[in-house]
Amino acid sequence: MLLHHYDPHTTTPLVPGHEFTGVVTETGPEVTTFATGDRVAVGNIVDSCGTCAMCRAGQQNFCHSFPTLTYGGTDRQDGSTTLGGLGHLAVKLAVALGATTTVLSRTKDKRDDAHRLGAHDLIDSTDTRQLATARDTFDVVIDTISAPHDLAPYLKLVAMDGTLSLLGHLGAVTVEATDLLIGRKKLSSAGSAGRPATAEMLQFCADNTIAADIEVLPSARLDTALDRLRRNDVRYRFVLDLSDLD
Ligand SMILES: [Zn+2]
Repeated sequence: MLLHHYDPHTTTPLVPGHEFTGVVTETGPEVTTFATGDRVAVGNIVDSCGTCAMCRAGQQNFCHSFPTLTYGGTDRQDGSTTLGGLGHLAVKLAVALGATTTVLSRTKDKRDDAHRLGAHDLIDSTDTRQLATARDTFDVVIDTISAPHDLAPYLKLVAMDGTLSLLGHLGAVTVEATDLLIGRKKLSSAGSAGRPATAEMLQFCADNTIAADIEVLPSARLDTALDRLRRNDVRYRFVLDLSDLD
């Protein structure tokens, strides 16, 4: 359910959240890869057909019969993003991968956050002078804006042979083909990975001490979390602690 469609007074029931983490308390006889005490996570894909070509290739995220969903991103020289729940992780991953990383943000007060996350610079995406100075400089621009928006200013930031990658599930978009032609630029999109790549990403995060910046709330305060999410008032992820349900 989209957050802005949620009304706590009329919409019930609601299962909030789509990614889970916890500690294994017990395993069945056929479980071989987890043991009691292991810290584990469930992403946004919990099942798929298991038999189609994509599933057999370990790309359950592209399952022909569509995976069962319950939502990630990254990359190389000069990764660049906007700074939200998804973007702040992209910054951490890009920095850990050795990329010189710049944050693009409409919110100037995120400069301190950008530096704390390891980013080397911040560009105010409402400042046309800053955008002009950064034209044709980024090998990869990761666009995590979830609402429809003009791609042209972001394509102009991409370096020759570079890529603008959309993670925001924007639906139909309009692209000025000349913005791709000049500089042989590429437009791509990505969502969740399959199980093998997800496991590799989690191992990379464990090895490099990368974790989301979170605020933990007891699950009983769900309405507070949803109200603040609606006002974009979270840095950068809410986690609901379900132990108050025990
Ligand atoms: Zn499948």
